[in-house]
Amino acid sequence: MENKQKDHIFTEIYISIHSIMGLLILFYCIFSQTLKGMMMVMLMIYLIYIGLELYLFATSQIIKLENLLGGYFQSVVDTLFISICCIYLDSYYFIVLPIFCLLILISSLANYRTKSVTHGILSTFGYISVGILSGFYPLGIVILQGALLLGFSFFVGELNQLISDVYKRNQYAMEEIEYKNQLLEYRATTDFLTDLSNHQAFYHALEVIAEKHAPVTLILLDIDDFKAVNDVYGHLSGDYVIREVSQIIKKLLRTSDIGARYGGEEFAVLLPGTGQPFGQRIAERICKAVAEYPFEFDQQKMRITLSAGVCHSTVALSRGEQTMLVDQADALLYYSKRNGKNRVTSAQFQ
Ligand code: GH3
Ligand code: MG
Ligand code: MG
Repeated sequence: MENKQKDHIFTEIYISIHSIMGLLILFYCIFSQTLKGMMMVMLMIYLIYIGLELYLFATSQIIKLENLLGGYFQSVVDTLFISICCIYLDSYYFIVLPIFCLLILISSLANYRTKSVTHGILSTFGYISVGILSGFYPLGIVILQGALLLGFSFFVGELNQLISDVYKRNQYAMEEIEYKNQLLEYRATTDFLTDLSNHQAFYHALEVIAEKHAPVTLILLDIDDFKAVNDVYGHLSGDYVIREVSQIIKKLLRTSDIGARYGGEEFAVLLPGTGQPFGQRIAERICKAVAEYPFEFDQQKMRITLSAGVCHSTVALSRGEQTMLVDQADALLYYSKRNGKNRVTSAQFQ
């Protein structure tokens, strides 16, 4: 649960308890016919105040306004109201202490430590004042109870702060674990040079896709005469070419397609839900884009071409058939190589 959500819930509880408390006192006063003029005015004012608070809270959820009656103003109004009500309920003075405790507890949960201490000081002041006025308990007991109330508010405030800190730390730890898990998964499935899926991730995707999606097309691509690139221009140029080719492949794929670095200068492309004509067209588009791309590294211009083997299956494939699909695409790639390179050979899976 997010902190905001927590605040939200406690603010709701806070306002609900106030509403219930206000209405209960109103009904009690009406039925016991102890409603005096001043008390009536007080209750009305307080119920209007709760209504306004409720309204502002509701609108703050919708239009994100700050709760204008929140903060210290709320503490003062709440304490004042409870104190004045209690003066009128002087034969029930014993309920004042639990009411103040409840007020401190809920407001602390809704508003953290500072609010709890403010409530504590104000409530203690209110409690002692009403105690002196009502004369229900001897002065010493009222002061002692007031001191206990203050202690309670500090205790609740600290406890709430502690819980809040533990909660936050827990949240950070969870976020960190989640981030590290994502990083780990990314590193385990992604090729570091090209940012494409790696060999292992490709086979995992093949397993998932070929079992469910039919038709499916597998394209195997291999850079032509790549050894010569390394020999003539150096390995850094070779790396550059592999990266650029990967980018070209990536740009031509849909998000549902899988582009992987199968091995050194070999790539695999898996097209779920794609059959013969479109699968072959994608392979041709990749080869054409690479052949036309102006490769240049260290002021050295290079011409790069790819050969491709494309194998289509109209039906979903079992595990054993999946490796056969790779073998057949590899054989078709080999065919492209033997027949002059820079070309695409495609066939149906058999
Ligand atoms: P073909 O047209 O028949 O595919 O010939 P080729 O030269 O491309 O194929 P070959 O398999 O003989 O050579 C592939 C070379 O790719 C050999 C290897 O040193 C190089 N290679 C593999 N991985 C990398 C890499 O990550 N970076 C670089 N720079 N070279 C790599
Ligand atoms: Mg090769
Ligand atoms: Mg090659």
